[in-house]
Amino acid sequence: ALTEKLSRLVKELRGQARITESNVQDMLREVRMALLEADVALPVVRDFIARVKDKALGQEVVGSLTPGQALVGIIHRELAATMGAGVADLNLAVQPPAVILMAGLQGAGKTTTTAKLAKWLIERRKKKVLTVSTDVYRPAAIEQLKTVTRQAGAEWFASTPQQSPLDIARAALDHARRHYFDVLLVDTAGRLAIDEAMMREIQALHAELKPAETLFVVDAMQGQDAVNTARAFKEALPLTGIVLTKLDGDSRGGAALSVRAITGAPIKFAGVSEKIDGLELFDAERHAGRVLGMGDIVALVEQVTAGVDLQQAQKLAAKVKSGGFDLEDFLEQIRQMKKMGGLSSLLDKLPTQLAAKAGEADLSRAEKDIRRKEGIICAMTPEERRHPEIIKASRKRRIAAGAGVQVQEVNRLLKEFEQMQAMMKKMKGGGLMKMMKRLGG
Ligand code: GDP
Ligand code: MG
Repeated sequence: ALTEKLSRLVKELRGQARITESNVQDMLREVRMALLEADVALPVVRDFIARVKDKALGQEVVGSLTPGQALVGIIHRELAATMGAGVADLNLAVQPPAVILMAGLQGAGKTTTTAKLAKWLIERRKKKVLTVSTDVYRPAAIEQLKTVTRQAGAEWFASTPQQSPLDIARAALDHARRHYFDVLLVDTAGRLAIDEAMMREIQALHAELKPAETLFVVDAMQGQDAVNTARAFKEALPLTGIVLTKLDGDSRGGAALSVRAITGAPIKFAGVSEKIDGLELFDAERHAGRVLGMGDIVALVEQVTAGVDLQQAQKLAAKVKSGGFDLEDFLEQIRQMKKMGGLSSLLDKLPTQLAAKAGEADLSRAEKDIRRKEGIICAMTPEERRHPEIIKASRKRRIAAGAGVQVQEVNRLLKEFEQMQAMMKKMKGGGLMKMMKRLGG
């Protein structure tokens, strides 16, 4: 709904040369509503709107943008900046074992995230990882960590409900040292609500373990309540990062803004499924669009500012409509992406699984990948680009040799192209055309 209203407002502002108090008032009201609906805390919303206004007022509007479009651009950038610039990684640059302490309410997702992180650290960072639970209050909690740690392929340090959390922590740290673990993940007990005893306990664990990372795990579905929880944990502990879980739910994820604003700690990870591999580095840019529910408009503004050729886009839309999307167009898209600096690009408009894949990769790798793909398509003849179905084994070998890659990579690109083609066909009458229409004005 916001998208519709906003795009109408964006249109109404056509032909005005600068952003003024009066021409953006309605838009800012919509944005304010959207943020409140996304469960962003009121003071955070106020502050945000004030900052956007400050940045926007009097700004000249460049090129083919309307003030409305320019404002959307500012809103999106500001929103992303509020949630963190770039992607925040874990700090493991300490004398090993690096301890990661997990804090948060019961049910926030600490135990699940502990195992997800273990898997992530093993696979992405090649770390030797030990987990331990200090949750001595719920007998099943220790077993739960054991089970998920096994799934993650990490090692689990046994603890029992008869021990004190501090004793468990000391023993686990000692074990991690003697067996040369790189990382010790410490899962802790939560309560259903903030309470003094819980806070004292985790403070004592923090003092004992001197963790490299103290991660506050918070359920994105918690909405407004996340604010109070975040404040209490921030006051009790020097948080170094936030993990926002259950982003696969239907919340708009406004908690990200509030929690970030209140703790000042970067959001490092997002939980996106119950499964052990459902963890991603948090991407503020991508999340900003979700919070406002205005992915399309943001994309539109980005494309216009990035100087994407509108005629190109329209031509592409026409091709998709007629079902004639070929490798030439794929190449064109790849080049457009490059022009826009990689990830904040067409990929963002793809269905979530694909976009998630793109967002996961770090920027430089994605860029290298784009360059390699470009190389492969360039090594094809125009005929092959228009009729990829003729590319059989011997052609593949020639193309691979020409591009200096393995044949598998050619296969992968063709596969990807097929998927994109299929998807674009599906989008035909819908999303893509709408988007292109807006692009064309
Ligand atoms: P803890 O009490 O903080 O340790 O929370 P748990 O790790 O036991 O998680 C509570 C519930 O939330 C479990 O049913 C998990 O499967 C679920 N959960 C945790 N993270 C996610 C997530 O990112 N997405 C979804 N859908 N469920 C999650
Ligand atoms: Mg737990």
